[in-house]
Amino acid sequence: MNGFIDFKDYMAELVYEYVPGVKRVGHNKLNFRCPICGDGRKSTSHRGWFYIDTGSYFCWNAGCPANESGMSGLKFLAAVSGKSIPEVKEELISRANAFSKRGSLYEVKPLSSVFNDEETDDRKTCVIEKVKDGEWTDELPVFVREYIEKRRLDEASFLPSWFKFYYDKKLKRLVIPWSDDYYQERTVMKSQWREDKYKFPLGIEKPLFGLETIDPEFKFIFILEGVLDSVWVKNGVAAGSLRLSRHQRELLQPYENEYKIVWMPDNQHSDKSSYEKTLKIIREHPYEDVFIWPEVLKKFKDVNDTVVYSKKFISLWRSEKFLGDCISSGLAAQLKLKGL
Ligand SMILES: [Zn+2]
Repeated sequence: MNGFIDFKDYMAELVYEYVPGVKRVGHNKLNFRCPICGDGRKSTSHRGWFYIDTGSYFCWNAGCPANESGMSGLKFLAAVSGKSIPEVKEELISRANAFSKRGSLYEVKPLSSVFNDEETDDRKTCVIEKVKDGEWTDELPVFVREYIEKRRLDEASFLPSWFKFYYDKKLKRLVIPWSDDYYQERTVMKSQWREDKYKFPLGIEKPLFGLETIDPEFKFIFILEGVLDSVWVKNGVAAGSLRLSRHQRELLQPYENEYKIVWMPDNQHSDKSSYEKTLKIIREHPYEDVFIWPEVLKKFKDVNDTVVYSKKFISLWRSEKFLGDCISSGLAAQLKLKGL
């Protein structure tokens, strides 16, 4: 697929053509009533989201075939047009060719010119409720913006398209949403040193962050503790801790046959507790795969640390070769861990 044409713009064009009532939200999303599952009973229920930058589709309606891990844009377009995937591809290619013949750099689509950031949904989810109640805001205070910029979080490779940071005005914390219904809050001020760094909502099962950005061509899933690290790693998923809950194990189960699940703790060479945790995994579960940090990265504590140090590391964590080379298990992993 080298020398390929980027079909994504043309995909959005087809969405407008095949799906009624499409509304553009921001620059990257198209929202509408899900034609795959028929959406909710209320006519105001619009749970289908097409992401232009990744060319993929997701429906928030549980039980919809496009829920859970979403659907590729091609599969979605085939389903709504009644065409086969090769036919959709052909259509995209002919549009891309026609476009390059026209020679224009950019064409404004009249239908998509309406920007609309309002919620178009009747979802009663905790994230939306908190924003509506005014408890959270997406107008981040300067010091929170600075925190995000310093860690380059806006540039992370694998942020889901819907992702957005919020600020909790009451608790004075950065809110990191995991989904519409789950989030974590992080301290961002020095004066909060006495508080727990992270807070999770009580009484809701903790999910996994990042399952929807998994590339099915790369047969590994890396389990990390934190979102701020996992969003840099190809097929990185955050669990909030390195001990999976029963619910999280269930979420992972559909992937277990096809993917190798790999534990990715913080750097074992610079963090004692990470060294201990890794050793524990290797000893108790000699067949489980772990990511052992290479010695050359010794000075960094975690993934985000490397990227803060230099942008060059961004591509390292996207490299299948690099990631694959650092995986080991059992005795081999123990030796690697001890630098042998
Ligand atoms: Zn649906």
